[in-house]
Amino acid sequence: MEEGRGTALVLGGGFAGVEAAIQLRKAGLDTTLVSDRDFILINPITIWVPTGELPLAEATLPLAHLAQAHGFKVQKARVNRIEASAKRVHTDEGALPYENLVVALGGAKLRPRGVEHTRGICGGTEELAEITAAVQALVDRGQGHIALGFGGNPKDGSAMRGGPVFELLFNLNTMLRKRGLRDRFELTFFAPMEKPGQRMGEGALELMQAMFERHRIHKRVGVPIAGFDERGVTFADGSRLDADLVLFTPGLQGHPALQGSDLPLSDAGFVRVDEHCQVEGSQDVWAVGDTAALDGPQWRAKQGHVAEVMGRVAAHNVAARVAGRAERESYVEHVGILCVMDTGDGAAWVQRDEGGERLIPMPVFGHWIKKAWGSYWKLSRQGKVPRLPGM
Ligand SMILES: Cc1cc2nc3c(=O)[nH]c(=O)nc-3n(C[C@H](O)[C@H](O)[C@H](O)COP(=O)(O)OP(=O)(O)OC[C@H]3O[C@@H](n4cnc5c(N)ncnc54)[C@H](O)[C@@H]3O)c2cc1C
Repeated sequence: MEEGRGTALVLGGGFAGVEAAIQLRKAGLDTTLVSDRDFILINPITIWVPTGELPLAEATLPLAHLAQAHGFKVQKARVNRIEASAKRVHTDEGALPYENLVVALGGAKLRPRGVEHTRGICGGTEELAEITAAVQALVDRGQGHIALGFGGNPKDGSAMRGGPVFELLFNLNTMLRKRGLRDRFELTFFAPMEKPGQRMGEGALELMQAMFERHRIHKRVGVPIAGFDERGVTFADGSRLDADLVLFTPGLQGHPALQGSDLPLSDAGFVRVDEHCQVEGSQDVWAVGDTAALDGPQWRAKQGHVAEVMGRVAAHNVAARVAGRAERESYVEHVGILCVMDTGDGAAWVQRDEGGERLIPMPVFGHWIKKAWGSYWKLSRQGKVPRLPGM
């Protein structure tokens, strides 16, 4: 590793920020990562927390372990505002100056009317703990009605998180079946779009429809959501869906700290970047992962693997700039949909890129492959096992 070649400040300790910090260190930059929590939440494996299949703690990894493995510094602080014109970041621990800044703060949830009556699989550790307790209470009661849904953001089609909602739905179904309780529970999926999940491709839509029919999961789609109350969901056509527990994942918007900052934002509040992850009009600020307004095909989606690619691309380009090299890498060709969609007792490999759509059913073993990925991610990012290319 070459030392003494500039400094970088990374904001956010998710997939994008961690990957940027790892790669910036590899490139020899003195790197500090600032995050409001001292761990990374490994989102793709949190789908097993509400069913009791995975303890919440196992879906996290302390940032200190990653910092030690790669030699970057971690500072726990909440970012309130970025003042790019003065090259500093305002946090609740004071102002931090920077030479090169990588913004990786993730997104924020939209807040439809009455959303406080719901909990979401993408709501972080507190909501995960609340969902787990609420599901357990219904299981203890021995019956209930659980409604699961997601919404989008009309200002940005990529700012939607449907995959994990389907995964949680199918995992709840499997858990209830295994406990012999499925007949005493109603499961209803709801979403405002006509064809929720369409971004994943036609194969994924067919797979999900087959799952809905086989497992008697009700569906309410194609009608805008008017709001939520303590009894359930209300729809724009005046109908309602009553449930004991509503698990709803709203569409995403830009992070609130960006609102008072002086970076260029998209209509949905995400940071506008070029194909090199460099913030438009800026020489020394990059934005990566969910925080950035994504370029790419119409069906593009904010995903963890794209966040990691952007973190790596930004780190490469920061290092190139610091070294005075003109070449730059682009993230755009890597934008695609890639996930192992878990169904509780199996999974499906879902891939969509410029080469087309692929759906490969992975009965039984797919569930274990996704679980193994979680362990691989933790071990490989700490340098305990080698990283496989592209993973
Ligand atoms: C339940 C779930 C399942 C998913 N499954 C998959 C999957 O199977 N495959 C896939 O590719 N993608 C999946 N995703 C999407 C993927 O997790 C996200 O796209 C990815 O986490 C984005 O990474 P990020 O680093 O940009 O943002 P985030 O992961 O949101 O990280 C943002 C970081 O910034 C920190 N932060 C936030 N605000 C502040 C602040 N004010 N000050 C300081 N720090 C702050 C946060 O603590 C966090 O460390 C899933 C997401 C969820 C929620």
